[in-house]
Amino acid sequence: MTKYIFITGGVVSSLGKGIVAASLGRLLRARGFSVINQKCDPYINVDPGTMSPFQHGEVFVTDDGAETDLDLGHYERFTDTNLGKYNNVTSGSVYQHVIQKERRGDYLGGTVQVIPHITNEIKSRILGATKQFNPDFQLIEIGGTIGDIESLPFIEAIRQFKSEVGIGNAVSIHCTLLPYLPTSGELKTKPSQHSVNVLRSYGIQPEILVCRTSKPIPKTEKEKLALFCSVPKEAVLECRDMKSIYEVPLAMEEQNMAGVVLKMLQVEDRKPDLNAWKKLVENIKNPKGQITVAIAGKYTKLSDAYISVVESLKHAGYADGVKIDIKWINSEECVDWKNCKELMKDVQAVVVPGGFGVRGIEGKLNVIRYARENDVPFLGLCLGMQCAVIEYARNVLGLKGVNSKEFDENPEHPVIDMMLEQKNVQGYGGTMRLGAYDCILKKGSVAHKAYGSDVISERHRHRYEVNVEYIKPLTDAGLVFSGMSPDGMLSEIVELPKLKWFVAVQFHPEFKSRPDRPHPLFKGLIDAAVKIKK
Ligand code: GLN
Repeated sequence: MTKYIFITGGVVSSLGKGIVAASLGRLLRARGFSVINQKCDPYINVDPGTMSPFQHGEVFVTDDGAETDLDLGHYERFTDTNLGKYNNVTSGSVYQHVIQKERRGDYLGGTVQVIPHITNEIKSRILGATKQFNPDFQLIEIGGTIGDIESLPFIEAIRQFKSEVGIGNAVSIHCTLLPYLPTSGELKTKPSQHSVNVLRSYGIQPEILVCRTSKPIPKTEKEKLALFCSVPKEAVLECRDMKSIYEVPLAMEEQNMAGVVLKMLQVEDRKPDLNAWKKLVENIKNPKGQITVAIAGKYTKLSDAYISVVESLKHAGYADGVKIDIKWINSEECVDWKNCKELMKDVQAVVVPGGFGVRGIEGKLNVIRYARENDVPFLGLCLGMQCAVIEYARNVLGLKGVNSKEFDENPEHPVIDMMLEQKNVQGYGGTMRLGAYDCILKKGSVAHKAYGSDVISERHRHRYEVNVEYIKPLTDAGLVFSGMSPDGMLSEIVELPKLKWFVAVQFHPEFKSRPDRPHPLFKGLIDAAVKIKK
């Protein structure tokens, strides 16, 4: 039978609950248990796909085409498990379903209410994921902070769920913050006590506390927390700020987090195999070199907007023993060519990531031109690939009036056009080409060598594509189309094999990179940069 672990957060938002949930997932996996993580988000959007990355960070895409919270990216990377639409629940999707049922007449005669209808739907989403994966452990993280109005139905659903599955089958972990007061030199426990009190007022007594802190927690303060929050002493865990998020599972293991959880869930502990993870952290801590990678986009003020891209670059860096420093380049600042050259001159590799809308496009085109002309290793992702094709058509093929139909309704040369299947699509929510699709690689190409395979599967999120009419002239001008959809119609990868590394892809490889298994395209990019630096 699946055992359930609920994770809530208190005191402040952005505590890193997702990392805690992902880390515990890793520790259980290291013991040979099967684990899935699930995220409940209290906002009313049906999914984060329609939200600006400025609002909610990156939209993570799963194999089955769900547009999900970025925490699913952490879960997949830490637990090395592919998740999907069952793993992200939002208030929006819950309400949408209940209201659809109401309109259909499923509740005819009844009043539809938060309790029991919304809470029942939340519980059935939890059980739905259980049914889908049948895991030993299911870790369910509730977004937001305890005390938020929005998250109340989720908290109530957990309360009911816990009592329904009974003692020993579910535990809850509360993540809090211990602020440090420099004037008195103290870590303060009061906000955590209050937060636990609020949680209790909703009927949930947390069994475990994970305390975010910048300083070690003195024994006396741990004891105080245990006493006031009614939690066993060994279940008050310290989560210190770390240089790398990948250190968190080891720090939690040192405090026997998984052991404490297993004991509460009446499951016999097993010896964990964390050797590979320890080696990974060893590599992270002892880089032998350094590489500066530019990410040129428009959401550069919020690094969470490109979190999977950043993590993928780091993963490749770990494998090559180099520290990756990201230089954020606001593409709008590159519209001026002189400025672009200035910003690019000290970088060893460039990524132009995905995006939507015309703002900053001319700057991205300049960045790509700079990379191509100066042979700086380049990786284009989705919009980054579309820009690479536009740049090539303009500056190498020499066409005038080249653009994507996303940015210009009627360009003379629409080298990027809306996909046929997208032309009659109505609305914006969940309507793009989403999720995993196969791609056939051209034998002997850079991509083929990098993947070491003839057919690959990668995740997508786009509406536009390379216009097939331009494949021939672009090919004649030297651009290699090294990856195509199985029907040969959709361009998935372009490359310039004469350069040290110039690869651009219509998909999002960043969603499949793992800390101990970097994605071949990110690895290729960093390998090339390291080689040049040497
Ligand atoms: N805006 C482009 C499209 O819809 C690229 C999307 C992306 O980068 N994810 O095709």
